[in-house]
Amino acid sequence: MMDVYFDNAATTRVYEPAAELVTSLMLNEFGNPSSLHDKGVEAERYVRGARETFASLLKVKENELIFTSGATESNNMAIFGAARARRRYGRHIITTAIEHASVYNPMKELERQGYELTVLPVGSSGLVDPEAVRSAVRPDTILVSVMGVNNEIGTIEPIADIVKAVKETNPETLIHVDAVQTFGKVRFYPSRLGIDMMSVSGHKFHGPKGTGLLWVRGGVRIEPLIYGGGQQKGMRSGTDNVPGWAGMAKAAQLEFENFDDKVAELYDLREYFIDQVLQIKGTAVNGGLRPGSFTVQEDPLACAAPHIVSVSFDDVRAEVLLHAMAEKGVSISAGSACSSNHPDISRTLKAIGVPKEHLDSTVRFSFSFDSDREQVDYCINALKEVLPVLRRYVPGGRKKRR
Ligand code: PMP
Repeated sequence: MMDVYFDNAATTRVYEPAAELVTSLMLNEFGNPSSLHDKGVEAERYVRGARETFASLLKVKENELIFTSGATESNNMAIFGAARARRRYGRHIITTAIEHASVYNPMKELERQGYELTVLPVGSSGLVDPEAVRSAVRPDTILVSVMGVNNEIGTIEPIADIVKAVKETNPETLIHVDAVQTFGKVRFYPSRLGIDMMSVSGHKFHGPKGTGLLWVRGGVRIEPLIYGGGQQKGMRSGTDNVPGWAGMAKAAQLEFENFDDKVAELYDLREYFIDQVLQIKGTAVNGGLRPGSFTVQEDPLACAAPHIVSVSFDDVRAEVLLHAMAEKGVSISAGSACSSNHPDISRTLKAIGVPKEHLDSTVRFSFSFDSDREQVDYCINALKEVLPVLRRYVPGGRKKRR
């Protein structure tokens, strides 16, 4: 039995050199960067190195980066931090219907605290309409948060156009981008794009779990969430996670080696997978790439990221399908693994208008640069084996398709 891991949007295997660096730092350079002795100074060097790596990959300044415990923290920091810093200027905030819970729920919490929240709808491909953003922005709008790539369907949002729409309407409005599924898969330079804050998560690009960062444009003031010893210029107190952040930086370096070639190959793999999966009866691909609309070759970056494909299967529950696939050695997830406590409720799938009978029958396949055709073939064969069996036993006796 082959072991096929197609759940890379949930998390990834740590790159070996990154894991080795983490181990070595834990065993050898275990100092606290705040200490003044050699062990502390040496540890501090690694944190600085990590900062330099991300500054160079993102083309931003080192002092604009705050390391965190992951994108959930980064998103919370950006949203609450900006809202608190700007509350005197306005109480209106904007987000979209397809954000990850770590953006959506902080926004809902601000609404409970008295802010006015606008949640923008999306079209069937999952795209946020920049003109809808333009109409929503008001003089008292302090923050707009839109994701770079959706984690369930892979749609790439038109961030450049959204920035233009927001800043032309109200130059004071801050723009935050959750770039968790963007970083390492789609070229994205936050400063050049004109956004103000961006969240990244280490474990989505083969770094260690519990690592992430928030980029905040120089000159933009947000309030910290965590108070304490004043680390990271007081923006995020707590002893630095030296092994984690250095390991995350190492993974980022590796992710961006031969980047364009790897991305092109991954788009080919995605297309190959989509071709194969659509040959199975009763399947539909959700999001950017729809059969008969546009193809990856025509305009890959306009529609979808290379690593995420959402597929609805007629007459089978996603949870049942993923268990059957797990028995074949294939790891996939229902909708989004990040909301696995409620696998049946996907805001994203509802927002793009996936038919009711498919909401519960949608599975996400997510690849990494290590994925290959052999794995895709194995996965497709496994689907062809399990689907006819599962479709015979439709709960509730839904009408069978022949
Ligand atoms: N945003 C998006 C789009 C995500 O996919 C995830 C991870 N599921 C997160 C935020 C949360 O990241 P982390 O696991 O680092 O907290």
